[in-house]
Amino acid sequence: MNIEWKHPREILAHFMARVYRYGMTTTSGGNLSIKDEEGNLWITPAAIDKGDLTPEDIMCITPEGEIIGRHRPSSEYPFHQAIYGQRPDLKAVLHAHPTALVAFSIVRKVPDTRVIPQASAICGEVGYAPYALPGGKLLGEHIAQVFAEGFQCVLLENHGVVCGGSSMLETYHRFETLDFCARLLIQASSLGRTRVLNEEQLQIARTQKTDLPTFQVKKRSNREKELRTELSEMVRRAYDQQLMNSTEGTASVRVEGETFLITPTAKDRRYLNPEDIVRIEKGRREESPLLPSRATLLHQTLYQQHPHIQAIMSAQAPYSTAFAISETEFDTRTIPESYLVLRDIPVLPYGSQYQDPERIAQTISKDCPVILLQNDALLTTGTSLLEAYDRVEVADFTARSLIQALPLGELVAMEEDRLEELRHAFLK
Ligand SMILES: [Zn+2]
Repeated sequence: MNIEWKHPREILAHFMARVYRYGMTTTSGGNLSIKDEEGNLWITPAAIDKGDLTPEDIMCITPEGEIIGRHRPSSEYPFHQAIYGQRPDLKAVLHAHPTALVAFSIVRKVPDTRVIPQASAICGEVGYAPYALPGGKLLGEHIAQVFAEGFQCVLLENHGVVCGGSSMLETYHRFETLDFCARLLIQASSLGRTRVLNEEQLQIARTQKTDLPTFQVKKRSNREKELRTELSEMVRRAYDQQLMNSTEGTASVRVEGETFLITPTAKDRRYLNPEDIVRIEKGRREESPLLPSRATLLHQTLYQQHPHIQAIMSAQAPYSTAFAISETEFDTRTIPESYLVLRDIPVLPYGSQYQDPERIAQTISKDCPVILLQNDALLTTGTSLLEAYDRVEVADFTARSLIQALPLGELVAMEEDRLEELRHAFLK
């Protein structure tokens, strides 16, 4: 199902539910709108439970100013209109008060999206609109003025955030990615200095090619079909657990030999289906409308050099990634389960997943199944998809505990003799 083919009423009800379920608005806050090709403004209603919105609740304001629908339109609709007035290229606007972005707005700082390449690519630089009374004409003028400068995401002083895009899907991706970025920066700030990427480094990810020579699929084995379902379900699960976000996160699974299945690039992880997965065979991709992940060469190198690896995941799990953008060590020698499942987690320099897959392949081993890629993501391997997934979960729980321990006192790692005892008892 392609959500963009639906009526604006259905698109707005769907995305309002998605914003609410992802924990990015309260039931009374947040409003979304779409400007259609006939000039109508479709918008969520005022004072209706956002957790339970139906397409029939959506309001319409015609180009003549007539209001159609069973409720009142959102009280913040004047600024939606002001934005569309300034930016005819925008077809959808999303406003909400997610806690991390509100935190930035009340200390009057803008999140720096250059900490991870996809946040910088999707959201760009974030604009800043000075305070004005919510629902008032002046607020609309302030926000529209910043959008007129070309920003796609604007932080509202002591209030929240507004994102725009050429579709509601694009707008939602900007919003969710920016919220993720804000949460990441907050977690990382308790770890110490945060590393920001420069323009040259950001270009590495942007210019990464995903294209490979193609081949035509003659048949698909039952094992492949089974693995396609398993892989797409695992990615959706990672998304629902907030271990991946809609625009980032790759997973692959070996079918046999040098044949593996990998998730596509530029496809919302929430909507991933078995048919979207791309088969790779000896450096070639199957003919498919979707291109394989930009990490395909890395996964291929890992499968070639490590026969024991059956599945690989890279995920921007929020707490592990906070370590990836800071200089602080991710110490797994603190909890027995973490050390058993993850072992030590080395950090590899930014860009190595594209420019130096060999180096990653040399670092990964049976004794080193997980690595952290600087300013990028956590990479886990496993002898099954579930094992690779479990390692993402355990890593993120561990990282979260380490961060939560910071205000409590000094972190005490396990003593060497206890680690030795652990290795002796469980590890081969
Ligand atoms: Zn608001």
